[in-house]
Amino acid sequence: MDTQGDIIVGSRVWVEDPTTAWIDGDVVSVSGEVAEIQISDEKTLVAKLSKIYPKNMEAPFGGVDDMTKLSYLHEPGVLQNLSTRYELDEIYTYTGDILIAMNPFQRLPHLYDAHTMEQYNGVPFGQLGPHVFAVADASYRAMINEGKSNSVLVSGESGAGKTETTKMLMRYLAYLGGNVPTAGRTVEQKVLESNPVLEAFGNAKTVRNNNSRTGYSFNYSCIPTIFNTLQEIEKYKLGNPESFHYLNQSNCYELVGVNDAHEYLATRRAMDIVGISEKEQDSIFKVVASLLHLGNIEFDKGEDTDSSALKDDTSNFHLRMTAELLMCDPQALEDALCKRMMITPEEVIKRSLDPIGATVSRDGLAKTIYSHLFDWLVTKINKSIGQDPYSNSLIGVLDIYGFESFETNSFEQFCINFTNEKLQQHFNQYVFKMEQEEYVKEEIDWSYIEFVDNQDVLDLIEKKPGGIIALLDEACMFPKSTHETFCQKLYQTFKAHKRFIKPKLSSTNFTIAHFAGEVLYQADQFLDKNKDYVVPEHRALLGASKCSFVAELFPPLPEESTKPSKFSSIASRFKLQLQQLMETLNSTDPHYIRCVKPNTSLKPGIFENVNVMQQLRSGGVLEAIRISCAGYPSRRTFNDFLKRFGVLAPEVLQGKYDERTACTKILEKKGLAGFQIGNSQVFLRAGQLAELDAWRTVL
Ligand code: ATP
Repeated sequence: MDTQGDIIVGSRVWVEDPTTAWIDGDVVSVSGEVAEIQISDEKTLVAKLSKIYPKNMEAPFGGVDDMTKLSYLHEPGVLQNLSTRYELDEIYTYTGDILIAMNPFQRLPHLYDAHTMEQYNGVPFGQLGPHVFAVADASYRAMINEGKSNSVLVSGESGAGKTETTKMLMRYLAYLGGNVPTAGRTVEQKVLESNPVLEAFGNAKTVRNNNSRTGYSFNYSCIPTIFNTLQEIEKYKLGNPESFHYLNQSNCYELVGVNDAHEYLATRRAMDIVGISEKEQDSIFKVVASLLHLGNIEFDKGEDTDSSALKDDTSNFHLRMTAELLMCDPQALEDALCKRMMITPEEVIKRSLDPIGATVSRDGLAKTIYSHLFDWLVTKINKSIGQDPYSNSLIGVLDIYGFESFETNSFEQFCINFTNEKLQQHFNQYVFKMEQEEYVKEEIDWSYIEFVDNQDVLDLIEKKPGGIIALLDEACMFPKSTHETFCQKLYQTFKAHKRFIKPKLSSTNFTIAHFAGEVLYQADQFLDKNKDYVVPEHRALLGASKCSFVAELFPPLPEESTKPSKFSSIASRFKLQLQQLMETLNSTDPHYIRCVKPNTSLKPGIFENVNVMQQLRSGGVLEAIRISCAGYPSRRTFNDFLKRFGVLAPEVLQGKYDERTACTKILEKKGLAGFQIGNSQVFLRAGQLAELDAWRTVL
């Protein structure tokens, strides 16, 4: 984005600022590589020219609905455009074909009403203002007219509005397809109606497409909404939700104005719709209640050294409740929590676990139950939704967690970020391909445009042999490995890899330089979490449950897979599923929606620059802009170009030139270089449009 050449005394510019990301001011002097900028009456600052960007002065009031219409396509320009629009409740903006959706954190009913749906119906993409309906409409038309499968990829961080956006997409598709329901309900309607079930179980994101499962589904954030009647609270002895250890841990955000009882009924109704019987529903609620009780069982030291026992009567009560709800023997439950079998060639020994070991075992059991229950729900819903048997093409909607970087990043973040690297590559290739197609259509020369591929990060993670996943699997197969030996192996192997960094002061962490930034991973639980393993004692306990629903969640394993050498790797399975997902995506025409959370207080009207910028960076929006800037970001039809810039060369307009020649003559007269003239459009390099505009204003 070489626009620094435009910075002269008097220019209105943006300068980097640590608190607000960008601050604007006027250039008062330029010397060498630096400039002095007047920020306010009292304040000036000096900054490097490379950190200064010219401000879009041409942008109309209220911003532009497509970023590519900005004269200067750079970070501060993009940010200002979004914030201007956000202030006016214009939450949607295009960047070429990509839709950016800012979460309004307030209901904007007019945006989604029946009238708006009608307006978008059948109108070519880009003709009306940016909207999620326009994306849905474009994918639907492409599917119907060209018989080609389409996909809509909705991404963004937690709370950015992915679920809401997906709902609106589905609603619009249901509206379009509403005339031809199969078996009473369209697939879209069924998907929509199944939403509350998965939402209630706290992981709506990665599930709608079974392939995108992350093995990461232990999230209790929404459980209170499924126990909402006093009767149920009494039946399952749940009392005050806050007294449950597992609920205390959740970072559930308050939903303003959402009625819990309403959510509860929606969950029940949705369960009916996707064909979960009354009896199954009852069992599901019992299992979830059992998990809450399970989490409240605490341990103290037992009589023997290194053994454990229930801490007190309260723990005893919760143990009995757990056993009652799971319909298993309380003593067997206690043993499964506090003891482990050791099988030696001579005998089977029962070994006690200390209180810490017993607590780990308890959480492991809860995770096992929850993930099996969750898988059951997903299978059930997928079966119920099925596919429309009459169509060969489809519209896939993928709603996926964005890139994650927390204070502590473990195996889950590793898997999520791996997914995002894959999707980012897909996205880059798509943006690049679209650019190329446009250039080919216009028959202009595009061969020198480069873009940064993230293949090197993907190789680091998934290459076989030798990538991180392969080394992790290897470590999991050797009984003597620890997370330290695993990390040592990583340090040795990737000493010279430019995407891998060994932290100076640690022997159990490693950093990956992802496309969206560096992430420090704590390796201490990688080995455990990668092992797809249900403790045999837990399996035996649950398999013996008198409740057929619970017992069926844990069918006996085939003989062979119980052998210790049979190791099943979550990461490798995940990699395979991701591969399949990419193959599916590659066979579709993609549409991208990037959801953005404008502030961390989750309130309307607040736009936090630094936060938004980070999301645009990690969502690849800025990279898309960069790719387009590397080519010819500004393009105008011959006619539009002549209307706007004809004044720069009236003599050309008066001459008897065809439009194409007239455009070339004007550009040559102004001494511009590097532009290209296509079949119907003028293609300008970054900054050239602004330069022409500047000529116009000095006339
Ligand atoms: P997570 O990944 O944590 O599930 P998400 O990206 O799916 O988050 P949503 O649940 O869709 O986020 O959005 C969070 C909240 O923001 C919603 O409950 C809703 O209140 C609000 N919200 C999001 N998008 C819109 C919208 N278009 N109109 C009104 N409110 C919205």
